[in-house]
Amino acid sequence: EHVANLIAAGEVVERPASVVKELVENAIDADADQVRIQIEEGGLTLIRVTDNGRGIAPEDVPTAFQRHATSKVRDSRDLHQIRTLGFRGEALPSIASVARVELITSTDKSGLGKICVIEGGEVKKIEDIRTTKGTDITVRDLFYNTPARLKYMKTIQTEFGHISDYIYRLAFAHPNIAFTLVHNDKLVLRTPGGGDLLQTIAAVYGTAAARSMLRVQAEDADFTLFGWIGKPELTRANRYGMTTIVNGRYVRSYALQTAIVQAYHTLLPINRYPLVVLQLTMDPSLVDVNVHPAKLEVRFSKERELMKFIETELGRVLRGADL
Ligand code: ADP
Ligand code: MG
Repeated sequence: EHVANLIAAGEVVERPASVVKELVENAIDADADQVRIQIEEGGLTLIRVTDNGRGIAPEDVPTAFQRHATSKVRDSRDLHQIRTLGFRGEALPSIASVARVELITSTDKSGLGKICVIEGGEVKKIEDIRTTKGTDITVRDLFYNTPARLKYMKTIQTEFGHISDYIYRLAFAHPNIAFTLVHNDKLVLRTPGGGDLLQTIAAVYGTAAARSMLRVQAEDADFTLFGWIGKPELTRANRYGMTTIVNGRYVRSYALQTAIVQAYHTLLPINRYPLVVLQLTMDPSLVDVNVHPAKLEVRFSKERELMKFIETELGRVLRGADL
């Protein structure tokens, strides 16, 4: 069991950002609308995720750290239509096998909950505790028992960069959630929640940037599009300013990026990219998730139609704007 967890950990827990990803996705799965992420030293010494979601029932606390105890995949077909973010039931056991984990959780407003401490995959303590509704997971000393993995970590700034980049995308995918991100006791990001995408954009890119974004909303037989696109003056030197969200998940797609850049083709200086946040909705059968679940790349079965749709709709907004 411990060996299996370590092997799984190698896949699930590549670096601090992968721990953050798994913990925050669990918070979102639990319907939290407030998620606080506290990081120390790029996540290598501390990752703490606190949410106000549904919590874990006392009887489920011991099994939450067992492999596949909770896998939501019941059928291979489920893999093609994943609705909740987590589906492998491997994240918590994997994380707990390579770090010191403390979980505090409660499912109700009684003020009572459980605390569970796990080190290197071993349960050290499960006790009653006074706490508020939701879940608070602290992961300390990541890879303390796998020094070979620790050696692959880059600088603290690089590791934190992966974390913040991920949280920004997640905030755009979930404008209804108020995210707080703190690194070494410094507030890095606070999004308002409440569902307004433009306010989330303002929290991430600044109010000045948000003020020069143009609204996009369109729909055809296959695709629904909503988002905000920057005026050409808001260009970036790299592609990171283009966020594409498909059916609620942040994805990377060369096709989508190409279509976006095409829409701006005469408007951008060479080697500059626009600031864009797009939320797309389509039938899940049109999205190919037949890749490693941790990877963010996707393919679309109606790729050419989708590219044309994006290029046309963004082009329409840009041409109609007073630039
Ligand atoms: P998965 O998310 O794939 O089910 P995880 O190992 O990530 O597996 O989590 C195991 C289980 O623990 C989840 O299915 C969920 O029931 C519970 N859980 C984990 N984190 C939270 C959380 N923040 N709030 C509520 N339940 C949680
Ligand atoms: Mg999970």
